[in-house]
Amino acid sequence: MAKTQIFYAPKGTYDILPSDQKYWERINKIVRELAVFYGFERIDTPIFEEASLFSRGLGLTSEVVDKQMYVFKTRGGDELTLRPEGTAPIVRAYIERGMSVFPQPLKLYYSGPMFRHENPQKGRFRQFYQWGLEVFGEKDAVADAQVIHTSFQVFKELGISGFNIQVNSIGCKKCRPRFRDVLNNHYHSFLKRLCPDCKRRFKENIFRLFDCKNENCIALKQTAPQVIEYLCDECHNHFKYVLEFLDEVNLPYLLNPYLFRGLDYYSQTVFEFWPENEVIPGNFALGGGGRYNYLVETLGGKPTPAVGGAFGFERAIEIMRAQKIKVADSKPKIKVFLAQLGILAKRRCLKLMEEFRQAGITVAESFGRDSIKAQMRVADRLGAEWVLILGQKEALDGTIILREMSSGSQEVIPQEKVIQIVKKRLAAKG
Ligand code: AMP
Repeated sequence: MAKTQIFYAPKGTYDILPSDQKYWERINKIVRELAVFYGFERIDTPIFEEASLFSRGLGLTSEVVDKQMYVFKTRGGDELTLRPEGTAPIVRAYIERGMSVFPQPLKLYYSGPMFRHENPQKGRFRQFYQWGLEVFGEKDAVADAQVIHTSFQVFKELGISGFNIQVNSIGCKKCRPRFRDVLNNHYHSFLKRLCPDCKRRFKENIFRLFDCKNENCIALKQTAPQVIEYLCDECHNHFKYVLEFLDEVNLPYLLNPYLFRGLDYYSQTVFEFWPENEVIPGNFALGGGGRYNYLVETLGGKPTPAVGGAFGFERAIEIMRAQKIKVADSKPKIKVFLAQLGILAKRRCLKLMEEFRQAGITVAESFGRDSIKAQMRVADRLGAEWVLILGQKEALDGTIILREMSSGSQEVIPQEKVIQIVKKRLAAKG
């Protein structure tokens, strides 16, 4: 006989079990509440998109496009990819759906799975979940500050502490080329001391040298020129206003002159949220984002200033667990249990359950169990205050037994009044 095959979730993926759902629900709830309060509307885009949307939007030399995309050919010959991030698809939707004629700024938020072919480890998966915010049509620094502030509040509302916000400005098309030249000159004399990856980065995208974890490269970075000194007046003032707004709302930010973020689409403000202690070995950012004033145009739309940020669920949950943050189960408390005996009663109970649902009363059952004793044990385990018992006799004469669990007292009541009576009893107990 053939051996039975056992299946496993693909490497880097995991199941969100019922007992873990509360974390996901909590993050989604807080993101929704805060986003809606600050005027963001929800958008959902497809899980897969044309692969070139990302190579054009994020840049061919970005790590995500270069190494991490799940690309596949369809039967029709299209080259698609599982989305590795949320911004490019939303920009695609913004252009395709003509959202530039909506009142601006247009503020959107999202939440859902992303896919990157990375080496899985704690805090790094191949299918992971992100939520994010995007603001279109606003060039004022207040939009940058609002994205950072709203995101910060999400973490605060989740009860997470011990993290900081790192910010930088990476300039615009006008001023960045000059800084690139200065950086080129600086690194040119140290080329031999760079790690092999950085030698490649030097040629392809010099700003990515700043992301290297190699000790030598980190030491060289500390002596590198700082972008802030090369910003044009417009970028300089924009950054000054961002920081003033952050000061106004008392956000604990740090200036990180070497923060560039690996994607081509950023300009001016970039930011990342970092845990202060290494909760996850290797220490990972909780999220980040920035301004992307050229992306709408790069993807075929009208020039539109924009800013946004994206944050991961898994790392936030890891920290919530490490910081022992209690998350209540969103399951409704069971107060009423419906027990049955006999096929006629079971049928009647199915209908009764629906009547309770429509009356807004949560009722539990264990219809698969036939013995009343076993059903009472379940009711007890669930902490039900009242048990309704429908036997063969009651099903026939239109009554039902109402038992109070604490006292054990029972009474027989008419079935047609059961909802009304239970409602009253629940109200009386408060
Ligand atoms: P990024 O788009 O790379 O800036 O990522 C933003 C945030 O998404 C990160 O700070 C993480 O919280 C989360 N994230 C990104 N990649 C992964 C991954 N492979 N596994 C888990 N979370 C991730």
